[in-house]
Amino acid sequence: MSQQQFENFTASSLYCDKCKAAMPVRERLLLILPDKEVYDYLCTGCASSVGQREVTAGEKLMAKSAAARRPRRAAPPPQRIRL
Ligand SMILES: [Zn+2]
Repeated sequence: MSQQQFENFTASSLYCDKCKAAMPVRERLLLILPDKEVYDYLCTGCASSVGQREVTAGEKLMAKSAAARRPRRAAPPPQRIRL
């Protein structure tokens, strides 16, 4: 159940076994693969790894465009149409 949530969370804090609490985490790039990147999440309290996340190239693009998007109402991003 929690594993499923873990798949697409946006980490700001995660439960740490050592600290016995939800702790703010630091994201560290662990591994770069041709089609994805693996991030390690380190507890800021005890610096132990509390989780990992894989970001595929597609997800990264989506995250980038989501971050660029303003929360206020705006025109949809321009679409590139090739004929
Ligand atoms: Zn901790």
